[in-house]
Amino acid sequence: MQKATRIRVAHINDTHSYFEPTTVQLSLNTNSSTNNAVTDVAKDATNNAAKHATVSPYVSVGGFARIQTRAKQLRHQADQQGREFLFLHAGDCFQGTLYFSLFKGEANSRLLNQFGLTAMTLGNHELDMGNAPVASFVNQINFPLLCGNWDLSQESASKAVKISDAENVYPFQVQQQCAKWMQHQAGDECIAIFGLSIDKMVDIANPDIDTPFVNALQTAKNTVQQIQASGINKVILLSHLGYEADLALAKAVDGISLIVGGHSHVLQGDFSDLGIASKDTYGRCVNDTYIVQAGMHAQSLGHCDIDFDESGKVVAFNGRNELLIGRRVCFDATMSNCDCEGEYQDVFDYLTAHPNVVRCKKDEQVNRLITNTYKPEVFALQRSIVGHLQSPLRHIRVPDEKGASEICSLVAESFYHAMRYRGHDIDFAIHNAGGVRCSLNAGPVSKADIAGRLLPFAVPIGVYSIQGCYIKGILEGAIDNAIDANGTGSGSYPYCYQLDYQVVLDAPKGDRVKNLRIYDDIRGWMPLNEQQIYWGTSSAYSMKGKEGYSAILNCRDDWVVTEMSMADCFLEFVSRDELRIETQAKLGLIT
Ligand SMILES: [Zn+2]
Repeated sequence: MQKATRIRVAHINDTHSYFEPTTVQLSLNTNSSTNNAVTDVAKDATNNAAKHATVSPYVSVGGFARIQTRAKQLRHQADQQGREFLFLHAGDCFQGTLYFSLFKGEANSRLLNQFGLTAMTLGNHELDMGNAPVASFVNQINFPLLCGNWDLSQESASKAVKISDAENVYPFQVQQQCAKWMQHQAGDECIAIFGLSIDKMVDIANPDIDTPFVNALQTAKNTVQQIQASGINKVILLSHLGYEADLALAKAVDGISLIVGGHSHVLQGDFSDLGIASKDTYGRCVNDTYIVQAGMHAQSLGHCDIDFDESGKVVAFNGRNELLIGRRVCFDATMSNCDCEGEYQDVFDYLTAHPNVVRCKKDEQVNRLITNTYKPEVFALQRSIVGHLQSPLRHIRVPDEKGASEICSLVAESFYHAMRYRGHDIDFAIHNAGGVRCSLNAGPVSKADIAGRLLPFAVPIGVYSIQGCYIKGILEGAIDNAIDANGTGSGSYPYCYQLDYQVVLDAPKGDRVKNLRIYDDIRGWMPLNEQQIYWGTSSAYSMKGKEGYSAILNCRDDWVVTEMSMADCFLEFVSRDELRIETQAKLGLIT
């Protein structure tokens, strides 16, 4: 006879290399009695917000060492209660912090390996730098990567490391037209788990062209059917499709017990009395499918207990997201003023009583790994000063009466030099203004300022060859998109190196770029030759032809995306010996 199956699922998503805790400012009302049940306190707080002063303390939230402590507790409890424990990551561990800028997937794999994850699914940011970093990642992790709508069947045999060779990868199965799923034993019963990622991956990330993504919804339907046909009636989908897509999928596909999701950074549950935006209740149920998501940046951990009857139906569901906070409560952002008097005690009691807050020590082993192995280099980057800016450098997207961005064309120039240095015979560089994220103040500039603030997205730089007649179209399209009310925003405005032109903004669309010239190493500035093939460099993002850059898609098919990020290029630009003196003069940087 079959019996009920009881499991506990812990889950995280969109951790984005936030190994260390984040300092978060809460906004709470402690004047209500802390002895009340917190739900009453919360109601009271909303009803009487005007009457009470709000307290806005800073707390240290989350981080991998706290996630580990809490997951261990939950696992231990589950063991005692005879529940099978599963720990899932719903994708997007790459990008986010200097830990990623410095260590790419390596630090993520080592730290995630500490968690004893049951499985992870592939997020879009895992593919920002192409397939190669994912190929190394899957060889370093000790858990399965579920990417059930990623078709690896045509993966090029010439690749040094093939993702499809890794046994812990669960891709799309072409013959069956469904995801490869994993089976997890819970007592005598089996649970099937499969993963899906955004199928429009090409639009938002950089998967290699030999490994396309197939339709997520159809794959889900086919996969559930085949799982059921194999005799398994308990199905978990680990999804990086986004919250709305998870809700829609649950409605459209029968037979999924639980969707553990990511991508939208949705923190389900009520955190309003802490001043934290949250959405929906935890474990939203659509068409008998429970849907969970646990915020972002390793700040919170979600967990739920699920009981299945023998037909696979969920008969009990109970869980929540928890904000994992540290011992200290401070009243300044630097977390140095931790006065333990009056107000402190109120805040402390309030947080301790909150059902969605858990005070949590850091796991020593995980903490040691971060502190000893990775933190010193992050710290060095923060302290490593590339120079002192004599005056501020202003970044603006579309030039205004004060002029153009003083940074963006230098960033484009840095791509040019970095690619030439690596043997690409580059003629020009084009970079979109939105790729640069801030102005720079006068004073010291650290490497961390460049990799963490100025160019924080680890987007790779690519090279492409294109006939001269298309180059004006790239600029026109990018400018048009930036200034047109129907465009996607000013971030597309182009900044260039070795291309010279005037922009007449009030000229008709398609005719705003005048007197376009290109720099020739021997002959100097020359009119662009419409027939000639030129080599350009841009971010892989612009090379997708998005946001007005569609003319770039006329490039020939010998384009290459490298492993150099924007920040890598710019850091090399300010520090490489042959360039340093000239670059520093351009920036007004003194060392
Ligand atoms: Zn995502």
